[in-house]
Amino acid sequence: MTANRDPSAPQIATVLLPLPLPEAFDYAVPEGMVVAEGDHVVVPLGKRLSHGVVWGVRDGTGGNRPLKPVAERLDAPPFTAAMRDFVDWTARYLAENPGLVLQATLRSRGGLSPSPTETLYHPTGQTPDRMTPARQAVLDAAAEEPASGAELARRAGVSPGVVKGLADAGALRAEQRDTDQPFPAPDPYRDGLTLNDGQEAAASQLRRLVAAGGFQAALLDGVTGSGKTEVYLEAIAELLRREPDAQVLVLLPEIALTQAVTARFEERFGVSPALWHSAIGPTERRRAWREITAGRARIIAGARSAIFLPYRNLRLIVVDEEHDPTYKQDEGLTYHARDLAVARAKIEGAVAILASATPSLETLVNARAGRYGHIRLAARAGSAVLPQIETIDLREHPPEAGHWLSPPLTAAMAETIGRGEQVLLYLNRRGYAPLVLCRACGHKMKSPDTDRWLVEHRYTGRLICHTTGFSMPKPKACPECGAIESLTSVGPGVERVAEEATLRFPEARVEVFSSDSAAGPNGVRELIARMEAGEIDILVGTQIAAKGHNFPKLTLVGVVDADLGLKGGDLRAGERTYQTLVQVAGRAGRADRPGRALLQTHEPEHEAIQALLAGDRDSFLDLEAMMREQLGLPPFGRLAALVMSGTDERLLAQTAKIAAAAAPLSDDVKLFGPAEPPLAVVRGRYRRRFLVQAQRNVDVSAFMATWMARFKLPSSIRARVDIEPYSF
Ligand code: ADP
Repeated sequence: MTANRDPSAPQIATVLLPLPLPEAFDYAVPEGMVVAEGDHVVVPLGKRLSHGVVWGVRDGTGGNRPLKPVAERLDAPPFTAAMRDFVDWTARYLAENPGLVLQATLRSRGGLSPSPTETLYHPTGQTPDRMTPARQAVLDAAAEEPASGAELARRAGVSPGVVKGLADAGALRAEQRDTDQPFPAPDPYRDGLTLNDGQEAAASQLRRLVAAGGFQAALLDGVTGSGKTEVYLEAIAELLRREPDAQVLVLLPEIALTQAVTARFEERFGVSPALWHSAIGPTERRRAWREITAGRARIIAGARSAIFLPYRNLRLIVVDEEHDPTYKQDEGLTYHARDLAVARAKIEGAVAILASATPSLETLVNARAGRYGHIRLAARAGSAVLPQIETIDLREHPPEAGHWLSPPLTAAMAETIGRGEQVLLYLNRRGYAPLVLCRACGHKMKSPDTDRWLVEHRYTGRLICHTTGFSMPKPKACPECGAIESLTSVGPGVERVAEEATLRFPEARVEVFSSDSAAGPNGVRELIARMEAGEIDILVGTQIAAKGHNFPKLTLVGVVDADLGLKGGDLRAGERTYQTLVQVAGRAGRADRPGRALLQTHEPEHEAIQALLAGDRDSFLDLEAMMREQLGLPPFGRLAALVMSGTDERLLAQTAKIAAAAAPLSDDVKLFGPAEPPLAVVRGRYRRRFLVQAQRNVDVSAFMATWMARFKLPSSIRARVDIEPYSF
């Protein structure tokens, strides 16, 4: 657009709609309306109206095909140019429609509604024609302090109708006032903890990155408990001292962790961050959206979806526990929040800090190649030392039949509790038992939708499918053969391990910590507070208990089944197991008492476990890296998946065949499939999956987009692209 264009010349706005459509649509800008790129507008779409964002404005008319006009320009902070670039980039990278990405950025569309207001009545000085004692009382109250109608009526002791009468008579003037509670600005000049030498060195490197301005990415690589949070808080403080209007996003893998981090932010900056995750209520969400888009919320702590928010002035992104698999969103728009965070930092010209004690191989390779800075913290903060890690070979020390805790583990538990310290038993399995089986006929209770085993939950007395959420009461008789009380629970979940712990230590206070037992943020907060206060002796937890927490009296971690993660078709199985075990062991001995971690395993010789015992992360990862490089797997090669689903299995098979024939293959790209993925049926929809493996220099996103454009999907078949899939 030129600066001196004729303001009366007709204009066309290209508007992106938050719908899975391949392109943006053109609309005429009505005379008298001024729109600019990034503005929020309402436009007609078929018979209804849709919200959209202006992606482009140019002079012109629709020619002989008249365009529908923009219906309304909304008064909301516009998308910045960087935000629009991020949407376009993400759509291209994920081989998805930009409208679908826009949808993710507008998740809380209610955020576009104006802020909640209240009406305040001020006296105008005009005397009404008719004066009554009631009217006089209201005018006196309003003269004292303007207030809402209800409040004035209450103070004057009259009915609210009197206030309205006075307003109609011109004696009171109504004024709308914003009732949104603004997020107060953080204070970056407050004192933090006194950093130790290692932390100070790391913090000054980060301060330099922030001071340099522009895009930079750095791995903050420090053992568990080394005080990484304190170090990145320093980077945030440095940024806010330099640019008080800057915004900072801190991504966290678990909602459970936002509670603890919030408290530390409050201590450091005097204000709590704006929170963004699935458990915040709609009112709070709208308020956060408005404050974030207006640039008033400066520090935002959120789950993976917070990467899509339309920030005004994003200058720093921290991805805490960057290796965590929960950053990968596997349904709908399929993305990895850490990858998008780095891309977004690049587009915004911001700094990205990836923090972890067990960095992903992807990030480590980027750091080694010099693409990311590599900042290390080798020692634990304060007087804490890293826990001593030992294995218990279950072949030599088997638990009693039907039990899960081996004699050496129970002996260590007895000692720990005897000293008044705490135990964490880790098992990444929710519920009581992963399988319920009929002793009479061998029938296995399965989910009707997925064919997966139903998990028994004893606290609620139900059998639950963890994939679809299907749930039913545990039947009294076998649904297959009718035998009464023949259904038996096979294998352990956390509830069952807790039952055994209670049986062995009847005096001890035992609690389960899983997403079921600690439903909602309040349940989580309460459990964490009780653990911190020493009101729990034995905590039996899933991965939700494994990461991030600081329990000063926790000195023994028992891993019930260290082999659990080593199975399954996941290229990251070894890496993942290693990361989880380091993290969970890292919960022990975080304060002045030394910690110990005992791993029950049938495979003490496995390289992931050996590396853990030797504390030799880097040679373990070197080995992993070598393996992946030889196989051409990420990060040395590229992977993408195409998942198709449909209710008609034959049509699905046919479509998959057509798709396979249409693939634009070359020497650099290999296609595998279609195969049945690990979850072959979900909610009555069958699935087929293709896997694309390519050389590192191949643009798999472009490949997937080209491929998808070369065949047509029947309307009942859905297809989803997964760039860098996690499990296959
Ligand atoms: P990490 O994220 O690296 O696992 P945290 O940042 O959670 O570690 O810090 C671990 C514990 O050490 C926390 O309780 C924190 O308050 C404490 N801590 C960190 N830095 C210091 C310091 N410089 N002085 C005293 N305590 C510290």
